[in-house]
Amino acid sequence: MRGAAKTPVAQPPAADTAAPAAAPIEFSWDIHHACNYRCPYCFSHGHWEELARMNRYFPVAKWLEAWHAIRLRHGRARIKIACGEPFTYPAFFDLAAGLSQEHSLEIVTNLSCRKEELSTFLAGVSPGAVTLYASFHPRFAEFEPFIEKALLAKAQGVLAGVNFVAYPPDLEQAQRLKASFNAASLTFGILPFRGMYHGAVYPDSYTEAEKQAIHETARGASPKQVENLRWMVEPERTRGRLCRAGQAFACVESDGTVFRCGESKHKPIGCIFDQNLALSEEPRPCEKESCPCEFRWLVRE
Ligand code: SF4
Ligand code: SF4
Repeated sequence: MRGAAKTPVAQPPAADTAAPAAAPIEFSWDIHHACNYRCPYCFSHGHWEELARMNRYFPVAKWLEAWHAIRLRHGRARIKIACGEPFTYPAFFDLAAGLSQEHSLEIVTNLSCRKEELSTFLAGVSPGAVTLYASFHPRFAEFEPFIEKALLAKAQGVLAGVNFVAYPPDLEQAQRLKASFNAASLTFGILPFRGMYHGAVYPDSYTEAEKQAIHETARGASPKQVENLRWMVEPERTRGRLCRAGQAFACVESDGTVFRCGESKHKPIGCIFDQNLALSEEPRPCEKESCPCEFRWLVRE
């Protein structure tokens, strides 16, 4: 999920300037704006047609060549694929299999593919190179088939966990779903909704009771996850703070355009197909009032 609509992936806390030089560079790749679901809380909700105009389905070989050049320049990268539904991207299996030879992949998926397809996909990627973040969307996904696929991914050691969006009208299901997923030995994370609901802006408009329900559902999560959730529910001011987005991290649009981060899409910094693509050499001040998603790149003060 992404755009005005991406299913957020749990983020670790702010980066330290003293992060090891050998830490892999990271990219968030909005592979395409297309999905077989139509969740009302999706960043792309109401904008699918407009966003789809940015989709460019370049040949797999062209993408692999571009990402190979990244490997040569920056070493093995972590590539998060988190826009639309990646498994509906044409030739996604070939693309992921090729990419996993040189990079680590984190894929956010609604797990709507068939179980057999998931097995085929997992057999094609490099062992240890792929992590799946499974998002459960109760308006579209059936519980039992979803669980089966999540358990398959878990058995193969590729599942990071199951996530659920705290869309206000769905929030009352959160605790019950968490109990059901936990009973199946699956971890269940909750992510704040970002967008408009009944004319109100979220997460700002969560009531205290809704915030409490979100934090209650997250009970038992790691301290890092709890801290991330706190930030996502009530983002801090970031304008002027130094951030390593654009230096150690960048976003890639489906047409190859590169941006500093998901909040800087008005200001491209290059193109993934450009052999001379240059990232910043040092952290730079954030230009946004607050950061809803990629705040882990802020330099810790
Ligand atoms: S599954 Fe994800 S990308 Fe698809 S509509 Fe739902 S939130 Fe959006
Ligand atoms: S919005 Fe600001 S803090 Fe967030 S990733 Fe972008 S530059 Fe960094």
